[in-house]
Amino acid sequence: MGIIRVLPEELTNKIAAGEVVERPGSVVKELLENALDARATRISVSIRHGGKSFIKVTDNGRGMDREDALLCVKSHTTSKIRAVEDIFSIASLGFRGEALASIAAVSRLTLTTRDDSHPAGTEIQLAGGTVEHIREVGIPVGTTVEVSDLFFNTPARKKFLKGERAEYAAIAEIITTTSLAHPGVAFKLTRDSEVIFDYPPASHLKERILQTHYRAWDTHLLPLDAAQGGIALQGYIAGAELSRTNRTAQLFFINKRPIKSLPLSYALQRGYDGYLPPGHFPLAIIMITIDPALVDVNVHPAKREVRLQDERFVLDQLAHAVRERLKRANHAPSISFTYALDKKKKYIPPAADGTKSGIANEGITVGELSGYAGNNQDDLPLQRASEQPDSFTAHGGEPTLKVQGILGQIGQSYIVAESEGGLIIIDQHAAHERIIFGDILSAMERGAPASQALLFPITLEFGFNESRLLEEYLPILAGTGFVIRHLGKNTYCIDAAPAWMENLAVGDLIRDFIDEVSEGRGERTVHERREESARILACKSRTVKANAGLSREEMEHLIRRLEGTQIPFTCPHGRPTFIKLALDDLDKQFKRK
Ligand code: ADP
Ligand code: MG
Repeated sequence: MGIIRVLPEELTNKIAAGEVVERPGSVVKELLENALDARATRISVSIRHGGKSFIKVTDNGRGMDREDALLCVKSHTTSKIRAVEDIFSIASLGFRGEALASIAAVSRLTLTTRDDSHPAGTEIQLAGGTVEHIREVGIPVGTTVEVSDLFFNTPARKKFLKGERAEYAAIAEIITTTSLAHPGVAFKLTRDSEVIFDYPPASHLKERILQTHYRAWDTHLLPLDAAQGGIALQGYIAGAELSRTNRTAQLFFINKRPIKSLPLSYALQRGYDGYLPPGHFPLAIIMITIDPALVDVNVHPAKREVRLQDERFVLDQLAHAVRERLKRANHAPSISFTYALDKKKKYIPPAADGTKSGIANEGITVGELSGYAGNNQDDLPLQRASEQPDSFTAHGGEPTLKVQGILGQIGQSYIVAESEGGLIIIDQHAAHERIIFGDILSAMERGAPASQALLFPITLEFGFNESRLLEEYLPILAGTGFVIRHLGKNTYCIDAAPAWMENLAVGDLIRDFIDEVSEGRGERTVHERREESARILACKSRTVKANAGLSREEMEHLIRRLEGTQIPFTCPHGRPTFIKLALDDLDKQFKRK
């Protein structure tokens, strides 16, 4: 007897659900798309327990009659395509006819709907995909879908869900992102019984932006509006004065569909070449409109990715449009030597301080002098002579930092000093980072950080995910001397900052901090989180900037403090704080040996 079986529909739907429905946010995304495809102008979402126990999406779209309502929860039923060729020019957001069936397969779902040609509506209740009740109800035209107990019958999936806050933040972000592509539609989110937002219909993208947490970008936004070769690019990019250290502030839409795309992100960045320092990423909300026939949307189960027929052209158009816009905004490009350095090899810094993992976000660009790629702390940050014969090279012996006499400062960045058996060059900035890092950690351990009230408390508004991260890190930040109050929703107020921060732009610093912790997330111990936080704060709060003239006393002070740190050889990110040129090597260079 053969061993191959045709799977029952109940099972195939569960399998399909695995691709379409990953988490409560994916349910919300699919239901929003359906409401938008039904031409709704008002969409309300309510959730409980981060959507895990309850999600309700109500729209005032065209609704369905009884016959369609019964069909739509079956798999592969759709009103959006009819024939094979339709797949190649899709104008609606949905098209596979899979979403409702998939969601129904892994939850208890109630669909209530009415179209305007019938006086009564239909309510259908399902559990695990099986219809349990059908009845007539009196409701206004439109559709409501209620999804309870998501994954109640697939416990393995349920285990993968994140905490309530994380799932809630993801949902809020999805609705807000979607709302940007449909400014004319009103969107409302209620969490438990609190109204999180209620965006009224807007006449234009800009107006919608100002309703959402993206209003924080307002004064920096440059409108983008370009069209060529059948592609229209619209939206807003932020001037180069506003940037992030990760890509989370870049939203791309193709034909109103939010898209994750590294190529688009690179193209955007190309437009900013020379305007932003390395490791900084632009902020942008970009709407690409293109003939649906030239876009294949059928490449990702959750429709997060698309394939463009002439991707190169689109990317070039984007880079070009961005560049032209920046030029018109008259921003001075930043120092251009970053180009030269970029070509050099990148390396992920090794973990300093014996922590298990170094930060694995931005590779750090190394120039000729510091070809330090060793994983061993005992390696001195110098290049091997054999590798690059004509550059400045030397071999390190024991890593010692015993400074005997300061010779001076070069380039307002490096301190040159004599040390046992040679010459050392200290990167004052990296050294300072190392010192501050130690100070922050010991303040956290002592539990009595020196804090200073701000003359003018700073109010900050964040995105949903950022707020969640901030909440998570508040206790750690408090340990360093920050006093941050939650003002409600996504708004926070910084009342005090660590005393040593003095005149720093504390608001920007906290924003950058959140960007960085959002980069490489994963399970971490409290200790690891503290170190990570100290590392980021130390790096952000460089009071001794690279280009600062230092008095002899200041140099002396810096060196003594560096000598006193636990690991004076690298900055907390693993870059060297000093390099040493042994007398021996000098002798060799001058052919004395
Ligand atoms: P798809 O969106 O890919 O067609 P779905 O399973 O999401 O597949 O929906 C199936 C069908 O149910 C849709 O094609 C549409 O005709 C109908 N439908 C779903 N949601 C709504 C809604 N909110 N309002 C009106 N019709 C809807
Ligand atoms: Mg759909």
